[in-house]
Amino acid sequence: MNDHDSDLVIGQFLAHGYKLTENKKEADVVLLNTCSVRQHAEDRVFSELGALKKLKSVPPKFAPANLSRGDNHPAEKIIGVIGCMAKNLGKKIIERAPYVDLVIGPNDLSHIYDYVKQIREKRKKIVEIDSAARDKSFYKNLYHRDKKHAYVNISEGCSNFCSYCVVPYVRGLQRSRPAKDILDEIKKLTKDGVSSVTLLGQNVNDFGSKQENINFVELLNLISGIKGIKELSFLTLHPKDIDFRLFDLMAKKKNILKYLHLPIQSGSNRILKLMNRKYTKEKYLKIIKEFHKKIPNGVIATDVIVGFPTETEEDFQDTLDLMNKVKFNFAYIFKYSPRPHTKAQNLSDDIPKEEKQRRHQILLNLQRGISRTKKVRIKIF
Ligand code: SF4
Repeated sequence: MNDHDSDLVIGQFLAHGYKLTENKKEADVVLLNTCSVRQHAEDRVFSELGALKKLKSVPPKFAPANLSRGDNHPAEKIIGVIGCMAKNLGKKIIERAPYVDLVIGPNDLSHIYDYVKQIREKRKKIVEIDSAARDKSFYKNLYHRDKKHAYVNISEGCSNFCSYCVVPYVRGLQRSRPAKDILDEIKKLTKDGVSSVTLLGQNVNDFGSKQENINFVELLNLISGIKGIKELSFLTLHPKDIDFRLFDLMAKKKNILKYLHLPIQSGSNRILKLMNRKYTKEKYLKIIKEFHKKIPNGVIATDVIVGFPTETEEDFQDTLDLMNKVKFNFAYIFKYSPRPHTKAQNLSDDIPKEEKQRRHQILLNLQRGISRTKKVRIKIF
C-alpha cells in the first residue's frame, strides 16, 4: 500500500518536470513515506531524519524544469514526512526534527506538489493532515516502476477497527473508488503496456458502495475481462467478508492469480474476539477448505500477531495448531506493540518482551520449515 502511495506521489512530481533520483544528496526534495502500524517503523523514521539533517544544506543538484534557481529557490533541500506517521504525529515531527519542512497525511497527498511549491516560494513549513479523502485527480499521474506491472487502489481507508490497528485513525473510514474510475485507469495502463495488475485496499472484499451496487467479485470479473490483462491479483482480504463466489471466479478465470493473502492474526477465538476480528478459527478453516476445494494448488499467505495482551500459552498453542493445520505458503509474523488511538492500547501490554520473542521465533521456525516444503511457482507482488 505504501509503495503504491509513493508511486502516486512520484507521478505528481514527474508530471511537473521533476526527475526521480535515489541519491539523497542530489535531490531537491526528499520525502519519507511512513508507516505507523508498529512503533519500530516510527523509530526508524526519526533515525533516518537524523541522517538527513546532515544533508539539509548540501545544495541539490537538480532543479525542477519549471522553477528557476534564485531568491525564490532556496538552496536547501526540502525534507518531508508523508503517510500514516505524519497523520499520527502531525506537528510533533517538526518539534522533534525542526529541519523538516513538510508533514502530509495519507489523505492529503493529492496536493503534495502544490505544498512543495509553496514551501519554495514562501519559505514556510506546511503540516496538512486533516483531509477526509483524496482528490480523484491524485490517481491521474500514476507512475509504475515496473513497466509490465502496476498497483491500482480500489478503496482507501478501513472501517473495521481491529483493536490493535491504527489504520482507521490515520487513513480514515473505508471509501470505495467508483468502479468506472478503476476500470478506466486499468484500461489506460494496458495501453501503456501494463499486463499485470494488483488491486489494493486494506480490505478489498469490502469493496462496493450503495450508489454503485457492485461488489468485489463483480468488479474483479469486469477487470479480468479487460483486453491485455494477463495477470490479476489483489491484497488484502478480510476473512469476515469472504464470499465463496470469489473462489468460483478465481477457478474460472485464467488470468486471476491463484493466491490469497488472508490474515488470521491469531488461532485463539478468545484473542480474535479481543482483536475485534469478527470471525472464529472454525470459520477461517472453513474458508481455507473451500478455497482448496475450488483451487487445489492455490497459494495462501497470512499475517499473525504474537503477544497480544493477555495471550496465554494456550492461546499461543491454538495459533501454532492452526498454522500446522493450514500449512500456509507464507506467513508474516509480528510481535504486538501498542499503537496510539487503538482500543488495545487501553489493555495492559502484559506479555514480556522475551516471551513475545520466544513465541515469534517458534512460529518463524515452524513457518520456515513449512515454506521449504512448498514449491510456489507464482510471482507474488
Ligand atoms: S482490517 Fe483491521 S487490521 Fe486491516 S487495516 Fe482494517 S482495522 Fe487494520
